[in-house]
Amino acid sequence: MGINKEKYQQINEELRLSKITLVAVSKTKPIDDILELYNLGHRDFGENYVQELVEKAEELPKDIRWHFIGHLQSNKVKLITSFIYLLHGIDSLKLLKEIDKQAEKNKRVIDCLLQVHIAQEETKFGFDEAELLSLELKQFANVRIKGLMGMASLTDDTNKIRIEFKSLKTLFEKLKTQNPELTTLSMGMSADYKIAIEEGSNMVRIGSLLFGERNYESK
Ligand SMILES: *Cc1c(COP(=O)(O)O)cnc(C)c1O
Repeated sequence: MGINKEKYQQINEELRLSKITLVAVSKTKPIDDILELYNLGHRDFGENYVQELVEKAEELPKDIRWHFIGHLQSNKVKLITSFIYLLHGIDSLKLLKEIDKQAEKNKRVIDCLLQVHIAQEETKFGFDEAELLSLELKQFANVRIKGLMGMASLTDDTNKIRIEFKSLKTLFEKLKTQNPELTTLSMGMSADYKIAIEEGSNMVRIGSLLFGERNYESK
C-alpha cells in the first residue's frame, strides 16, 4: 500500500522537461493513494471502470482531471459526461455519437482520443488506419477530437513495441496534416513508456510503477 514517491518524482521530472503529460493510472487503487499523489501536486488521474471512477470522483477533490482510459460502453457514457476531462479509448462511430448526445445534454464539449489498433493481437479494440483516415473528425458539435491513443502488444520484444509505437506516431502525423488542431498522442505504460516517448508520445499512462502492482488486471 502507498505510492512510490521517489519513482513519481523521478518520472515527473523526466516528463516535465519534455512537456509530456503524466496520467497516473489509479484503477483498483484506494482513495488514500490517490490523495497522496494529489497532495504532491498531481492532478491527472486515469481510471478504467465507470462505476469505480464515478465513486472516486464523488469523494475526491473537484480539480482532479479525470481521464477515462478503459473500454467505454455506450450505455455508460451518461454516467461520466458531466465531469470527465478526457476520454482516451474511443473505438467506434457509435460511441462518438452517444458522447456527442450526452455532452450536448450537459452543455459541454468533450475532449476525446481515438483508439488505434496498433498491436498485432486480435483482442485489442480500436480503429484501423483506413477507418481513421476516412473519418470526418469534426462532424460532432459536442465532441472535440484531440488526438490518438494506442497500446502496444504485451511482449518482451522491445523491437516489436517500438515498431508499433512508430506506426502510431506516423499515423498521428498523417492525420495532423488534414487536422492541424490535433495535439495529443497518448501512448506508453509502465513497461514501455520510455520507448513510447522516444517514438514521439506526449501523454503516458502509468499505473503500477507509481502505485505498485494491482490485485486484478484490466478487464
Ligand atoms: C491499466 C492501464 C494502464 C496502466 O498500466 P501500468 O502497466 O500499470 O502502467 C495504461 N493504459 C491503459 C489503457 C490501461 O488499461
